[in-house]
Amino acid sequence: MLTIVRIHNELLGTYGDRGNADVLAFRAHLNGIGTEVIDVAFREKLPETGDIYLMGGAEDAAQSLSLMALKEAGSLSRAVEHGATLLAICAGFQIIGESFTNGQGDVIAGLGLLEITTTPGKSRFVGDIKVASSILDCEFTGFENHGGATEIGSSVQPFGKVLVGHGNGYSQLDGAISGNVYGTYLHGPLLARNPEFADHLLSQVTNTEMKYSDDLANEYARWRRKVTK
Ligand code: GLN
Repeated sequence: MLTIVRIHNELLGTYGDRGNADVLAFRAHLNGIGTEVIDVAFREKLPETGDIYLMGGAEDAAQSLSLMALKEAGSLSRAVEHGATLLAICAGFQIIGESFTNGQGDVIAGLGLLEITTTPGKSRFVGDIKVASSILDCEFTGFENHGGATEIGSSVQPFGKVLVGHGNGYSQLDGAISGNVYGTYLHGPLLARNPEFADHLLSQVTNTEMKYSDDLANEYARWRRKVTK
């Protein structure tokens, strides 16, 4: 049984990234692996024993609130330290970096889980995005909508090379990866648009290679009926 923890969806849910949890649960199910998706709201206690933690996109004020709570609690940082996987999209990505500067010019220290720094870009980055993955032999697609531009340090590898769109801003790179921590600007949700990356995360977490079902549509319909009961 895998535990998937969705963090502060009421703050970090502006761009529909909550769907990443559903895709992970579905792909795990196709491989006979049970999952539990736990939603942790702002100020609720964040469990430290989750397998995969998910964060989504948000506007500056909401992401500052989320960061404040996560900093105070310290539990996400401890979970990651103990080997949990973290997938952070856009605002989530910015939150887990060294710092981000909001629209008012305040520099806000992040969780420091990735060596990245975000500052306001010259204009907002909006539109479709395509990146060549730095870890899988494929391209990922999604959409982006952010004001921040992110510089990455030498201790992280990019999530991908930008083929269409902007990603981190001006470097032709998107996102950052360090160990089990993944950050990217791709909304979509990312894992709905790019299920091979969901399988990659699940394979890593379970130490088993994920296999596609031959009867995907039927499986999906059956599963959907079960979870929406
Ligand atoms: N508020 C952040 C920015 O504008 C993140 C936006 C988002 O998550 N889409 O850069």
